[in-house]
Amino acid sequence: MSERVIPLVDQRHPSLPLPPVVAGQTRHGLPVDALRRPLTDLRISVTDRCNFRCSYCMPKEVFDKDYAYLPHHQLLNFEEITRIAGVFVERGVRKIRLTGGEPLLRKNIEILVEQLAALRTPDGQALDLTLTTNGSLLARKAQSLKDAGLQRVTVSLDGLDDAVFRRMNDVDFPVADVLAGIEAAQAAGLGPIKVNMVVKRGTNEKEILPMARYFRGTGIVLRFIEYMDVGATNGWCMDEVMPSAEVIRTINAEMPLVPLEAAAPGETAERWGYANAQGQHDPSCGEVGVISSVTQAFCGDCNRARLSTEGRLYLCLFASQGYDLRQLLRDPAQTDAQLAATIDAIWRGRTDQYSRLRSLQGPDSALGQGKRVEMSYIGG
Ligand code: SF4
Repeated sequence: MSERVIPLVDQRHPSLPLPPVVAGQTRHGLPVDALRRPLTDLRISVTDRCNFRCSYCMPKEVFDKDYAYLPHHQLLNFEEITRIAGVFVERGVRKIRLTGGEPLLRKNIEILVEQLAALRTPDGQALDLTLTTNGSLLARKAQSLKDAGLQRVTVSLDGLDDAVFRRMNDVDFPVADVLAGIEAAQAAGLGPIKVNMVVKRGTNEKEILPMARYFRGTGIVLRFIEYMDVGATNGWCMDEVMPSAEVIRTINAEMPLVPLEAAAPGETAERWGYANAQGQHDPSCGEVGVISSVTQAFCGDCNRARLSTEGRLYLCLFASQGYDLRQLLRDPAQTDAQLAATIDAIWRGRTDQYSRLRSLQGPDSALGQGKRVEMSYIGG
């Protein structure tokens, strides 16, 4: 099988066997994994399709016109997604992020949002329901998503310069339309809004300062993401990684920054606030964040699981195999209690800490050679 084989073939590797349901470690009655990390954050990919071809996620030469996307009948339908999400909430999940591919391409996504927004935690709390989008359809959909019950959005935007943006996402889509989507989301009250910029050295690092200037003082939190070796197709190399420390130095040289506390356990971003003349955080200017999976791994409190579009559960962004929950969902004899017990057993066996091991063993170690699942398949 040559390197350019369409990855989806890879993802049809047989799923991992479902573990036996045995009693195991819990905290407050909820499962914790082998590193005692709770399961509080579920990312649900609702489509493996996207209208962008970001080079770090869905390179055009692989995800081309002959690419075999998942047939619709293999995707989890909204009822199945809502049912399994309900079971995850019962087992500790408090935050659900809808991802893709590009989630707004999934037809009638508002219906799913409405169903998920109606879920409640065992103590009656609403979930933190959010969505990551490339912003291309946001201007049209922001209000209907808000009305359906979505609380927040995160928008991916890798530059303000159209030519640079095009080099990152490999399609002819104007930055202005993504900015219009962000404005529509702000107007609809889908906030606090976060904007994620993947920094790829040699392609868009010159956009760091223009982006910081643009979003400073707008209430929108701009985060810079280190270019990652996700999947098996983006041709990743360490030379194209710009360490977050360098990003912070670049901004700090023009707009002084001060470190801020993490907003929540398991938060992936390191927060930096814009400083006033006294060197204190000036909330009116806001903050930026850096997500440093390559140079400052944050596996220690990683509380995230990922559900693929066809119902496979992945325990790490860099995993190569997942657990097929769809077969259970489509088994009429399977009860929610049995689903919950299976999820517990899977999570308890989790030992994933890819980024931490990569930083210990180095990017060229054997660790990095496995056929990792594509980010476009399980969401970032
Ligand atoms: S590398 Fe895996 S375990 Fe580590 S933070 Fe990322 S998803 Fe979590």
